[in-house]
Amino acid sequence: MLPSVDRILQQDQVKDLFEEYPRWLVVKTVQVVMEEKRKWILTSDLNSLSDYSTTLEKFLMKVSEDISMVAGLSLRRVINVTGVVVHTNLGRSLLNTDVLQNLATIASHFSNLEYDLEEGVRGSRYSHVEDILCELTGAEAALVVNNNAGAVLLTLSTMAGGREVIVSRGQLVEIGGSFRIPDVMRNSRARLVEVGTTNKTHLRDYRKAITEETSLLLKVHTSNFQIVGFTSEVKLEDLVKLGREHSLPVMEDLGSGCLVDLSKFGLTREPTVQEAVRTGVDVVTFSGDKLLGGPQAGIILGKKEVIKRIKENSLNRALRIDKLTLAALESTLRLYMEGEAVLEKIPTLRMLTLAPGEIESRAKRLYDGLKKENSGTFLAEIRDDNSRVGGGALPLQGLPTKVIAIKPVHVSVESLEESLRRYDPPIIARIDDGRLLMDVRTLQEGELEIVEEAILSILVS
Ligand SMILES: *Cc1c(COP(=O)(O)O)cnc(C)c1O
Repeated sequence: MLPSVDRILQQDQVKDLFEEYPRWLVVKTVQVVMEEKRKWILTSDLNSLSDYSTTLEKFLMKVSEDISMVAGLSLRRVINVTGVVVHTNLGRSLLNTDVLQNLATIASHFSNLEYDLEEGVRGSRYSHVEDILCELTGAEAALVVNNNAGAVLLTLSTMAGGREVIVSRGQLVEIGGSFRIPDVMRNSRARLVEVGTTNKTHLRDYRKAITEETSLLLKVHTSNFQIVGFTSEVKLEDLVKLGREHSLPVMEDLGSGCLVDLSKFGLTREPTVQEAVRTGVDVVTFSGDKLLGGPQAGIILGKKEVIKRIKENSLNRALRIDKLTLAALESTLRLYMEGEAVLEKIPTLRMLTLAPGEIESRAKRLYDGLKKENSGTFLAEIRDDNSRVGGGALPLQGLPTKVIAIKPVHVSVESLEESLRRYDPPIIARIDDGRLLMDVRTLQEGELEIVEEAILSILVS
């Protein structure tokens, strides 16, 4: 049933591949595909083999697909139709195009990264974002590092100095695999003192746990989970008051950290970064690429002398932010100076605040395009569903959206999902209830057409 390697190598399509890719890679790929098919035949039962056709054409298609997969870059652009806006596996936040331009300029030229242009002497890389961060949030001082995990580690390592840090039992969160508050504490040499219970922690629990050895009161945003029912948590304001009474600093790990109040757009109201700063908390940390919508970074805001001490910690050098991130972060923060326009300009915020009418018209456009040409190869419908914020923010929050639900007639929904994943560019969708679901909220400019073409070329042609 299998064509011979020689015969394959003589085909015109393969000769075209020789023009584009090194000869060894083409031959190797042909051999690999051959081996895959051979294995498949050997492990299949006779019945399924009877409708197995190894036509030369199909074989060649697989070879050219595989080769472009192997020869292409590993880190690639994908299309996100999962409806998860801040999707950690898919690269979290997207950058605005003005931000990209600045990024490209800084990347391809020398810059004043650590050079003071006024004085002509060595400057600080942090100076480029410190003022604007303070301006936007009301903080006294700021520092940025590689990511929020780094920000928490560095801050704890500086503030706790091997002594005790008090945290509520309800806030000992794990954020994806290796970031667990108790582990980060250990790595920063802080000694964790847990207070309260899983569902309820009172101010008196903190008060009772304060000893000579206490160095810090820590509040952690329970980003990716929620305790509901009979619960209570101490407000940041109250924790700050308690800290004052005992001359102890207070820190909050805000996780996502949002600068704009998104409750107007149907999201659960969460304290903004500005509100956290206003409580007088000594230091807060949050991510650059979650709800802020910028590049991966860890932002640390706080009192002048606290930030000064953190800057001097030698660990800071190991967690240093790089210049491309800094360029992207500075221009992202500048977008926040433009008021309401920021909601349009930062892709993460744009997706979260998308008008219902826009969602509906996108869904209709995709649906119409698919229905027109599907010649009975699949069923499609528009369904109401919920998008997710993602990035560990507001885990219970559903954002009303429209999805296109597809049920293929001749192939399984799993195989459709796989074909989309292997499409160029890959399209990441989800399966629910035997249908492939595509949420239009997370589509970017020009992507709707690609998705339409992908579905039609996979299922119809
Ligand atoms: C996401 C998150 C972190 C880790 O932030 P990264 O930017 O992913 O390093 C730390 N703490 C909380 C509460 C978070 O939500």
